Amino acid sequence: MAVVSRSPFPASTILGYPRIGPRRELKRALESYWQGRSPVGELRAAGAGLREAAWRRLAALGLAGLPSNTFSLYDQVLDAAVMVGAVPDRYRGPVAEDVCFAMARGTGGLAPLPMTKWFDTNYHYIVPEIGPGTAFAFDGDKPLGEVRQARGLGLETRPVLVGPVTLLLAAQAAPGSPASFSPLDRLDDVLAVYERALVALAAEGVGWVQLDEPALVADRTPAELAAAGRAYERLGSLPGRPGLFVASYFGDLGAALPVLAGTPVEAIGLDLVRGAAGYAGPGALEGLGGKIVVAGVVSGRDVWRTDRGRALSALAALRGRAGQVVVSTSCSLLHVPYDAEREAGLDPWLRRRLAFADQKVAEVVELAALNARGATPPPTAPVMVPAREEVAEYPGRSPYEVRAAAQAGHLGLPELPTTTIGSFPQTGELRAARAALAAGELDRGAYEERVRAEIGRAIAVQERLGLDVLVHGEPERDDMVRYFAEHLEGFAVTRHGWVQSYGSRCARPPILHGPVSRPGPITVRWAEYARSLTDRPVKGMLTGPVTIVAWSFVRDDLPLREVVFQVADAVRAEVADLEAAGISIIQVDEPALRELMPLRREAQGSYLRWAVAAYRRATSVAGDRTQIHTHLCYSDAERILAAVDALDADVTTVESARSGERMLREPAVAGFRRGLGPGVYDIHSPRVPGVAEVEAALRRAVAALPAARVWVNPDCGLKTRTYEQVEEALANVVAAASRVRAGA
Ligand code: GLN
Ligand code: ZN
Repeated sequence: MAVVSRSPFPASTILGYPRIGPRRELKRALESYWQGRSPVGELRAAGAGLREAAWRRLAALGLAGLPSNTFSLYDQVLDAAVMVGAVPDRYRGPVAEDVCFAMARGTGGLAPLPMTKWFDTNYHYIVPEIGPGTAFAFDGDKPLGEVRQARGLGLETRPVLVGPVTLLLAAQAAPGSPASFSPLDRLDDVLAVYERALVALAAEGVGWVQLDEPALVADRTPAELAAAGRAYERLGSLPGRPGLFVASYFGDLGAALPVLAGTPVEAIGLDLVRGAAGYAGPGALEGLGGKIVVAGVVSGRDVWRTDRGRALSALAALRGRAGQVVVSTSCSLLHVPYDAEREAGLDPWLRRRLAFADQKVAEVVELAALNARGATPPPTAPVMVPAREEVAEYPGRSPYEVRAAAQAGHLGLPELPTTTIGSFPQTGELRAARAALAAGELDRGAYEERVRAEIGRAIAVQERLGLDVLVHGEPERDDMVRYFAEHLEGFAVTRHGWVQSYGSRCARPPILHGPVSRPGPITVRWAEYARSLTDRPVKGMLTGPVTIVAWSFVRDDLPLREVVFQVADAVRAEVADLEAAGISIIQVDEPALRELMPLRREAQGSYLRWAVAAYRRATSVAGDRTQIHTHLCYSDAERILAAVDALDADVTTVESARSGERMLREPAVAGFRRGLGPGVYDIHSPRVPGVAEVEAALRRAVAALPAARVWVNPDCGLKTRTYEQVEEALANVVAAASRVRAGA
């Protein structure tokens, strides 16, 4: 190993910071560029302005170690793919930004790369495409450019790169690769590029580089662990390189910790929040040797103030075992909003408990000062173990066959019933009315009139097209979780608490802070109104307990499952009220069922058991004649088919067309006993599918599944489409269903 005198590692740092802008400046700059309303120079200037503001803010808060290259115009995994030259030829072009956007969003007939969830977060990354022939080459414009920009402001930074192992594990094999190929096979070639990056950064005078390897906190095969060891052995042996800091997050490193500790990297980042239990085990932190430990004691995944006593004990436990202990966040702050101080509308009592990104940075700085003094945790009162709430056991519903017979008699639906997933287009008028309501320019009565008009329009369209099971179209909600949070006790919603979901898309997750209860019916009057307009069955539409919790920031003083059960009871009350109001089909969506799944296999079984129990708790109040539907987004439903069956819903609709109908090829699906609606067309694209195309998809579904159980529906809700597209597409769906019925 080369002997270089290194700059010391700063005493406080964070792994990353939000980048969409405190007022979503980046969103606006991106959308304006995409719509051709501003030149690329304006977009670049907006990016530079946001980076400068972020560094200055962090420096003003007293943070010692500033990260760079955590900004992105779209996604950091996409940036890493570009940095190593993994740009498929079809996307190449003269303007770097346009190449990125083509990969992320597609362009002129060119489909984008797929997008998927970043571990167990609600952030989505662009899946790089790597094949045996990918010609890797170092493109250092972005990391070097950010280092230089910061230096121009008088600030030294630590560039952050997605690590080589995580990059390859996150990638997919390029089409046409041999079946035996996996992107990790290209590790050596990619390492050569990372070596060039380290050389270039060292030449720039960079003292430390952060390599993010969250993939190492999930279950890894011995071969993958060996690959990680080989990677950091090789990068660590590079002469004249900067100091190497390998960051892990979203869990504990487990068997990967000794592997990393055995390589020449100087610093290792540990997530001491999500990984706390794993690192508490006997001997878990032995063998850190003289490594610098970047201790993630301030959570980057929640919005709560840090328990100082707990953080100080974690730091104290490391002090004897590590060469140096640096105070940091558990992961990038990308996953939390900017500043709780701006939430003037929140109850002050709640606001005092909150820490968004800036408050968390201040906590890191404060804890670093205490750590430097060798502070030991104050004697704390013994941890209060929350009294375990009695989880009432509700009787289950009758067996499926009994219910199916009762529903058949009651509903009188044809074979291959047609329906939709719930939302209809959110029209310009509706959005304008919602904005006017929020601004106080429209009164509630007038707004609700607008909502009723939208329901009327959706019902009229569905009747005219001849759908069998209608929906009210969800015009009263702009978000399927926030709407329920606004109507339940125990939740608060923020005004500015935006968190990036992907690209320019952001969400404001509600904050679940106290006991959850339902003061009164939430959706009943909208469902009743829709039902009053038609003789056909109208589906009531609810969001399930797992999804409400998955897409919120949740209190951390109760086990997650107990929180989910509280929400399940609120949903249960709503199901009962819908049924009492004469709604005979009720859909309870759980698109996030797969998303909350723990990263480690050993924890997955127990998760699925309680998640399924919560769903049944929410729905089992329905009588036999009431048909319960569920909807699961994303292409992974086939992997959890046993759990889907255990939900005990009468009908399940899932995305299928978008994911190449993987669902239909799953052998177990042929034995699925309940109603199943594999989506017959992809709603994510504005393209309208023709009748023949839908008919062919439907015939494949009927061939793969027990035909009598097949439902006919799109992949997902229609809220992002226009009425024009929806009417044409649904007319073709109805026509295809009647052709298959007639010719079956
Ligand atoms: N019912 C919701 C809708 O149609 C479901 C959305 C989702 O699956 N994410 O919009
Ligand atoms: Zn969906």
